Amino acid sequence: MSAILANADVSAALDEAKALYASARPNSRAVHERALASLPGGNTRTGIFVDPFPIAWARGEGAYLWDEDGHRCTDFLGEATAGIYGHNHPAIRRAIETQLDLGWNYGGHTALEGEMAGLLSQRFPSLERLRFCNSGTEANMFAVQTARVMTGRPAVLGFAGCYHGGLLTFTAADNPLNVPIPTVVAPYNDAERTAALMDAHADELAAVIVEPMIGGGGCIPADEAFLRMLRERTERHGIVLIFDEVMTSRLAPGGLQGKYGITPDLTTLGKYIGGGMTAGAFGGRAALMERYDPRQAVPLQHSGTYNNNVFSLRAGIAGLREVYTPDAAVALNARGDALRARLNAVCEGRALQVTGIGSMLGFHCVRGPIHSPVDSARGDARVRELLFFDLLAHGIYTMPKRGFLSLCLPLSEADLDRLVAALGEFVASRASLLA
Ligand code: PMP
Repeated sequence: MSAILANADVSAALDEAKALYASARPNSRAVHERALASLPGGNTRTGIFVDPFPIAWARGEGAYLWDEDGHRCTDFLGEATAGIYGHNHPAIRRAIETQLDLGWNYGGHTALEGEMAGLLSQRFPSLERLRFCNSGTEANMFAVQTARVMTGRPAVLGFAGCYHGGLLTFTAADNPLNVPIPTVVAPYNDAERTAALMDAHADELAAVIVEPMIGGGGCIPADEAFLRMLRERTERHGIVLIFDEVMTSRLAPGGLQGKYGITPDLTTLGKYIGGGMTAGAFGGRAALMERYDPRQAVPLQHSGTYNNNVFSLRAGIAGLREVYTPDAAVALNARGDALRARLNAVCEGRALQVTGIGSMLGFHCVRGPIHSPVDSARGDARVRELLFFDLLAHGIYTMPKRGFLSLCLPLSEADLDRLVAALGEFVASRASLLA
């Protein structure tokens, strides 16, 4: 088939899929139309917006979600890694109910924050000292600012395609919302060019910040040698190495830093660590974090009202102690690896593949190895959008447009089988678009 014909086909297929989607969801459309009056585009979370209007979810239980029009979907988005426990997990529910009985908004300390911090530093030994905040975005902002204060240098080096929150993202050439700090943008997984940039800017660089696997940007793992080079080079130049493990900390009992045995100076966490409640944390070497000790004459100020939110802490502790134990992390990620192999077998010979590590999976509409977002961008973004609508027609919810999946614990083998079968149908029915 000629390129022009395939081009027309994918546009027509997408239009048709969107029309079907819209006609099946009058109640979601009505929710969106009401929200338009007060939210820009009816939206307060860009990454999950669906054109022509998003699904309005009404309820969740286990691995399933029900929308306002009564459709049941299997949740393969897993709240972009935050929803690892699925919906309404009994251990999380118990923790929240316990807290409801005890009240909240104490305006003071509890035993929970020290307990949670201890659990996290046990799991991630790089966290000699840590502090809590409310989101991954906040965690990264504080980590970067900690590095700037402690080194007295202004700049941060990040990688094209990495996302560290809406205020520090390198997913587009230029994000006008990025905080106004000097940045150097390097190519992901390109050790040689990155090393040269680090050498050239060594005197200005406070920090190098990296996702050890690009998460929302496509589940593209870093080469271990690339991460080792970052560790060695930052050490040589006195630059603070920050691992953004907001997503990847769930991929092994000690996160990807544990898997590879590479210890960053600072680590940021978020997502599932609050058991599904809002959460964030940043921490690392005691020598860097001690500046937050309020007993000194001029400590660094980090006074967030909800830094020690009792719901996030109690739910997070219950999750880590009772459910997402190190053994559970190994098991879930082994399931993810096996699923990825099955999905890739279905894609064999097509311009479609699944990358990732363990329980995080990313679809790309290209052939050949994917080392960076540039490799993935060669694919037709509309085909990936079509994949979202086609999977949804089978009752499978993934991240709109981006082909991103993260597994939650309650997913059954039958749920995984249904995903494999639905992908099989996509590959068969859309063969001409995947040639
Ligand atoms: N870092 C990474 C790697 C992320 O994936 C995200 C969220 N997708 C963030 C930071 C920001 O976290 P939050 O949405 O909690 O602000």
